[in-house]
Order: sequence, then C-alpha cells, then structure tokens
Amino acid sequence: MPTVGILALQGDFAAHAAAVELSGFAARQVRTAAQLGEVGALIIPGGESTTMLKLIEIENLTGPIQDFGKTKPIFGTCAGAILLARHVTNPSQFSFNLMDIEVERNGYGRQMDSTIGTLSLNGVETEAVFIRAPIIRQTGPLVKVLASYKGNPVLVEQGLHMAATFHPELATSNPVHKLFLERLR
Ligand code: GLN
Repeated sequence: MPTVGILALQGDFAAHAAAVELSGFAARQVRTAAQLGEVGALIIPGGESTTMLKLIEIENLTGPIQDFGKTKPIFGTCAGAILLARHVTNPSQFSFNLMDIEVERNGYGRQMDSTIGTLSLNGVETEAVFIRAPIIRQTGPLVKVLASYKGNPVLVEQGLHMAATFHPELATSNPVHKLFLERLR
C-alpha cells in the first residue's frame, strides 16, 4: 500500500500522521519535492493558509503539488481545504484549483470562532472540530457533498480529492481519514 505524505511545513501535521498510522497506513512527513515524489497520497493539514502558501513557495513546491494532484489523491483539511479550492475569498489568495469549490476564509467569524460539532457521515454521528474554519460557499457539479454542518458543506469529494473544513485529526476516532484512505486500497 502506498505511503501517505503529510505536508509538514506548518500546522497540524503530527496529529494527521498519527491518524493515518492508526488507520493502518504508513505516514511520512513531506517538506521537499523529492519527498513528495516518494508518497502515493498527500494530506495538507490545517494551520494558517497564507503562511503555508509562503512556505510552499519558498520550498518550490507549488508546481510539484499541482502536478501531484493531477494523478494522486490529496486530502486538504481546514487551511488545506482552502489551498485546494478553485477560488478563495476574505481575502482572496492563490489556491491550487484542484477542487471546484469556492471557500470563504474564517467564514464563521466571531459568532462561531471555534467549536466541536456533530455531523452525520454515512448515517454515523461523527465529531467535528472547527477552528477558525472556512465556509464552502459554492460547489461545482463534479463535487459530492459527504457531510454538512449548519446548512454548509463541510466534507466534500471530487474525483481523487477530498476537503474538510474541520480538523478530523483532532477527533477521538478517525472515520474521515479511513474514508480518504479507502481510495488507496
Ligand atoms: N483560518 C485559517 C486560514 O484562513 C484556517 C484555520 C485552520 O486551518 N484551522 O488559513
């Protein structure tokens, strides 16, 4: 089975590696294009998307991540979901356009800065930790909504890729990681 890379430039990458390993896959931190070449899937963690973009640029990873996404699965969580989007607002910034979603950064504002919610994933109640989360404002026709929270899509899939506006790596169990990793079996 392929090794799962975790983009480890900034943010919550260590907890993702643990969730991947608990799901029965090998995880490896990715900081360079050479390391990206050695993994079969990539998780882009939560953190701060603007900072992450700067570090991606410094490490010359923009092109390699874009190319990786043409043939291999990427799972973006929170800041990672912002990076995968077609269009980002509040404010607008560069994104990889690997999923046909429009994302508003810090979309819940002060009224729901950070919270732990419950969502239904394939009919099963699943814990979702939101931290200064973005809101997915629009999804294109190829995007499948896997879970919603308070009327907004929070877990979406398009072809190989998946995006979550919450932090599945901070939940007490890892059904969302398992769902992503299913595609590697
Ligand atoms: N608010 C962050 C951003 O805009 C994302 C927050 C997170 O990843 N927990 O990049």
